[in-house]
Amino acid sequence: MKNGDKFARKGLFDLAPYVPGKPLEEVQKEYGLTKIAKLASNENPLGISPKAIAAMEAEIKNCFMYPESTSFDLRQDLAAKLAIDPDQIFITCGGDNVITLIGSAFINEGDEVIIGTPSFYTYTLTTNIMGGTVVNVPLTDLTFDLDAILAAITPKTKLIFFCNPNNPTGTIVPKEKVADFMSKVPEHCIVVFDEAYFEFAQCPEYGDGVEDYVKKEANVIVLRTFSKVYGLAGVRVGYAVCAKHLCNAFTHILPPFPLSRLGQAGAVGALSDEKFLKDTIDNNNIGRDYLYQNFDRLGLKYAPSYSNFIFVDIGVDAKAAAEEFLKQGVIIRPGQGWGTPTHIRVSIGLPDENEQFIKALEMIIG
Ligand SMILES: *Cc1c(COP(=O)(O)O)cnc(C)c1O
Repeated sequence: MKNGDKFARKGLFDLAPYVPGKPLEEVQKEYGLTKIAKLASNENPLGISPKAIAAMEAEIKNCFMYPESTSFDLRQDLAAKLAIDPDQIFITCGGDNVITLIGSAFINEGDEVIIGTPSFYTYTLTTNIMGGTVVNVPLTDLTFDLDAILAAITPKTKLIFFCNPNNPTGTIVPKEKVADFMSKVPEHCIVVFDEAYFEFAQCPEYGDGVEDYVKKEANVIVLRTFSKVYGLAGVRVGYAVCAKHLCNAFTHILPPFPLSRLGQAGAVGALSDEKFLKDTIDNNNIGRDYLYQNFDRLGLKYAPSYSNFIFVDIGVDAKAAAEEFLKQGVIIRPGQGWGTPTHIRVSIGLPDENEQFIKALEMIIG
């Protein structure tokens, strides 16, 4: 413990800080590389929508003024798209921020928070900082185990974080199973549907947290983001869609200006760009099939992905492999942090990036 650490909130040091994927610039310098496939953070390989760029460029000159505090225009557009009251939508500085705000709004010391494991790290961090008790429920077959989560509910359970599709495994729980689960969750629990990859998961067996639960006034908050399919990870735009009776608590903890002018303009632009959305999903489907085929050929097991990344067992130490990948100009995420030491999570890239990844993989495991 360093001098000064005694001032920090209880529980702050129970966890290591979040370690993001290596920035492109750092890897380029460190390994003397020019062509790098950055497949570690589930970013959009097509970049930013041209409409988002144009909107942000037009907004730059206004940036001496504070932004509109509730992201009014963006909320109107989202509300129209989701066919919901704009007052049930809260725009934040990234989806991560939705999670911390949920923590600030709802977690009291001693409240239990159920988290599937492995899943998104911020749930654990937020719960800990707020003095809640993390109740880890392991995944079954790399998928959220909703029966086990039901069994873990106690009178102290306040929140359940349900990541669907799940990061890092990419799996979903079919909507009938979710419905069965929701019919059994007691009234004193809020279920957070983390739908950061919603747009990639579109298929008949995937549900829709807003349509199925928020609109039916269940104790549900849905998280979505502009970082993935909309390509705005660097601008930081996320949002929560809350059941009406939960909005008041949420309103009370919002910072005065959660999202910058550039963020608001960029997200409005991105939301209007149907072509970019379609191109992103098409590229993702093509890349996913290509990677599946190659994993099959190499005899590697992977979880079925409903997202823009794949969780695959490469059969060797993933941390050592990640270093080797870096030397080949490929950045991936090793599974050590999730307790899966031979798995990696690889984002689906452009066709040439996927090829570069497969070539490197063959060298590493061959
Ligand atoms: C990416 C992601 C988010 C939110 O990311 P932001 O960039 O903060 O919007 C939330 N949940 C999961 C599971 C994610 O993968």
